[in-house]
Amino acid sequence: MLKKFERYPLTFGPTPIEKLDRLGKHLGGKVEIYAKREDCNSGLAFGGNKLRKLEYIIPDAIASKADTLVSIGGVQSNHTRMVAAVAAKVGMKCVLVQESWVPHEDAVYDRVGNILLSRIMGAEVRLVDEGFDIGIRGSWEEALEEVKSRGGRPYAIPAGASVHTLGGLGYVGFADEVRAQEKQLGFAFDYIVVCTVTGSTHAGMVVGFTKDGRQRKVVGIDASATPAQTKAQVLQIARHTAELVNLGREIVDDDVVLLEEYAYPCYGIPSEETKEAIRLCARFEGIITDPVYEGKSMQGMMDLVQKGYIPEGSRVLYVHLGGAPAINGYGYAFRDG
Ligand SMILES: *Cc1c(COP(=O)(O)O)cnc(C)c1O
Repeated sequence: MLKKFERYPLTFGPTPIEKLDRLGKHLGGKVEIYAKREDCNSGLAFGGNKLRKLEYIIPDAIASKADTLVSIGGVQSNHTRMVAAVAAKVGMKCVLVQESWVPHEDAVYDRVGNILLSRIMGAEVRLVDEGFDIGIRGSWEEALEEVKSRGGRPYAIPAGASVHTLGGLGYVGFADEVRAQEKQLGFAFDYIVVCTVTGSTHAGMVVGFTKDGRQRKVVGIDASATPAQTKAQVLQIARHTAELVNLGREIVDDDVVLLEEYAYPCYGIPSEETKEAIRLCARFEGIITDPVYEGKSMQGMMDLVQKGYIPEGSRVLYVHLGGAPAINGYGYAFRDG
């Protein structure tokens, strides 16, 4: 489905699938838990899911003769860190609008983790006082205009690289990759658990797994705390992407499974249960999840196993999308471990 699209390699190749034996036993031992390590997908500034999307977007940026990538996210956005890394790698400038999406507690929140890395990689970082929203923002459009007025040639990448016309392709390819790995493993996964916020990761998977009828086994764990907007955006991107790849089947509302009950209290703030999930995963498996995204999907996955939403005997693929650098902005939350 992806052959006609150009891909600029930014990742090492297929990501490993690893069995989480100790965590599985702790959760009752009735379900086999595996992790797909998208967090280890590249040597570019700690990697993560945004690179799979950018692999299909960067050829268009290069073809447009742009000299500056312009993107947007929260202060501790993983996505903007990945855009900064890719700009460095392909030899472009980078302007990042970093909005105040999270009511943070740490004095150094805007000095450490992702934003620190983006600054080191040479991105022009602009702090903007606007709250959380996954849609198109005025501050981003202003940054694009400003690059033009300086004589530069901007290339626009929206939040999470999601509503970009090519944003869903990367995770269509992910489904093909999982199917190839399943052949080698000799079994197929019954559930795929993924964290969802700006939507194109989940949307790409919905399209990719529709091919073998598993789209409703892709369980999105909302971390936006604005689930209606997120679900609508997943559906819209999935439909657009399905057309783009000539899927030949319609994506309907029920194909997008988004669970809303783990995003509390709000985007970017971990609940006590999220913090406990982060500790458990770290202590049983040595795997780091973050308080914004993967800690919430880890919490969700654990809860779904424990309450039997995922039936006994199932094999679950927890997709770890990256994000660990953000944990540096949460020193206070983890001051006692
Ligand atoms: C961006 C991101 C997500 C959410 O992916 P979307 O495509 O925006 O829904 C989840 N986890 C991490 C670590 C991310 O950086």
